[in-house]
Amino acid sequence: MSVTPQDATDVDVVIIGAGISGLGAAYRITERNPGTSYVILERRAQIGGTWDLFRYPGVRSDSSIFTLCFPYEPWTGKETVADGGDIREYLKTTAHKYGIDEHIEFNTHVRSADWDSSTDTWTVTAEQDGAEKTYRGRFVFFGSGYYNYDEGYTPDFPGINEFAGTVVHPQHWPEDLDYRDKKMVVIGSGATAMSLIPSLAETAAKVTMLQRSPTYLFSGSKYSALTDLLRKVLPRRVAHSIIRQRNALLEGVIWFLARTTPRFVKWWIRQIAVRNLPKGYDVDAHFKPRYNPWDQRLCLIPDADLYVAIGEGRAEVVTDHIDHFDSTGIVLKSGGHLDADVIVTATGLQLQALGGVTVSIDGAEIKPQDRFVYKAHMLEDVPNLFWCVGYTNASWTLRADMTARATAKLLAHMKSHGYTHAYPHLDGEPMPEKPAWDIQAGYVLRAPHALPKSGIKRPWNVRQNYFADAIDYRFDRVKEAMVFGRVPVPTNRR
Ligand SMILES: Cc1cc2nc3c(=O)[nH]c(=O)nc-3n(C[C@H](O)[C@H](O)[C@H](O)COP(=O)(O)OP(=O)(O)OC[C@H]3O[C@@H](n4cnc5c(N)ncnc54)[C@H](O)[C@@H]3O)c2cc1C
Repeated sequence: MSVTPQDATDVDVVIIGAGISGLGAAYRITERNPGTSYVILERRAQIGGTWDLFRYPGVRSDSSIFTLCFPYEPWTGKETVADGGDIREYLKTTAHKYGIDEHIEFNTHVRSADWDSSTDTWTVTAEQDGAEKTYRGRFVFFGSGYYNYDEGYTPDFPGINEFAGTVVHPQHWPEDLDYRDKKMVVIGSGATAMSLIPSLAETAAKVTMLQRSPTYLFSGSKYSALTDLLRKVLPRRVAHSIIRQRNALLEGVIWFLARTTPRFVKWWIRQIAVRNLPKGYDVDAHFKPRYNPWDQRLCLIPDADLYVAIGEGRAEVVTDHIDHFDSTGIVLKSGGHLDADVIVTATGLQLQALGGVTVSIDGAEIKPQDRFVYKAHMLEDVPNLFWCVGYTNASWTLRADMTARATAKLLAHMKSHGYTHAYPHLDGEPMPEKPAWDIQAGYVLRAPHALPKSGIKRPWNVRQNYFADAIDYRFDRVKEAMVFGRVPVPTNRR
């Protein structure tokens, strides 16, 4: 498999991104293919990706940490959801434990990747500390996430420049922002707002969540007695494996019920709200969405913390539309006014495929969104390129780890047969398309063509179903719809 070394940056695999996906790929690829050389190119100065970038107060996982962590490195904390800082530390410690951190080049922003079919190698060009640097690899693995790191999404709010206070986007939370005893308005009702508000409410004078329309909130306990018990009586790894599968199953069951019995799940979610909000609270005005549960991401509020903050008068919800900003806050379409010292625009992300990297084959640029996705991790007719995206309805790592293992398996197959390239190819009938992410999240609706396309049948069908994928993975055939080949061996001329 080895690429003929030319300089220090020639490797077998170039991995882009040192978040969950990139680190997980490094682990799985070398676990199955010892001796494979690789480099991880990371534009930030630290490991962690999402969990390094997002620093707003209260940042935490909103899926079970036991499914978000790696299956081979048990999470040791007690809580079912984990703080962003703890996840970052876990990723750093894991990368160090397995020697992965030695392979990372930080402050290295990848700009382009070009496939050369005469040598079957990718040339990856990056900016490192202001200078251009080039890497050559037989394979390229994109663990670059799914959104634009440079900018979050902020709608054009009329009059925003008139506002005399501070406007903050959670993607760029200022470390020194002092909000003690301040009036805060958080615009948005997604997962970010839900984790941010209870935390802000601990120190701010008052936090108002301003939403255009309600979101479904599901409350679960932060702790699980069963998790504690299993950890006490079983060896660490066995307990972890059972807890992981159980939590994946629980998340899967809730999603399945939401899709098959939406009326029941709506009722259940409403009961949680009624039970935890003050008597007489207008639950339907603020917590009864117009869509069905899981049409949009279901938000988790551990121990009903948002409802508790509302009950204690530290937080409130206003369901209305913004007319414009003025110097003291927000004027609402209803005519009301929200006074604010700080306004947080928790208005979302900008979807981005392949970390904004320009990908080309023999110098001709390809558009990822024009290609079908193969088994959720390769692109139609693009050789030796992998991309890693997790589930929208379950923990990211559940699929990211399957992607990493599938990549490792393909590399092993190629090595054992002496192949130097492999690309999935769609033969025969034209394939009807469907969106790769069939979720009504704002960032998907705003950029429906940002991601590669999904087909409607295997192996081109992107599913949001961990259990079906896990079964498929067991019976996976690397040769399915895959074209393999070898680069011609150069003849030595005299
Ligand atoms: C606030 C927030 C909370 C979330 N909570 C959950 C949750 O609870 N559960 C869940 O399953 N998912 C959650 N997600 C989704 C989350 O992104 C995944 O959990 C996971 O962290 C993604 O890992 P990743 O490595 O694929 O991508 P990222 O974490 O985004 O990491 C990508 C890395 O690639 C680097 N990179 C990108 N482009 C380039 C480039 N061109 N050159 C060099 N480096 C590049 C980035 O700097 C980054 O370090 C959340 C997302 C956000 C934004």
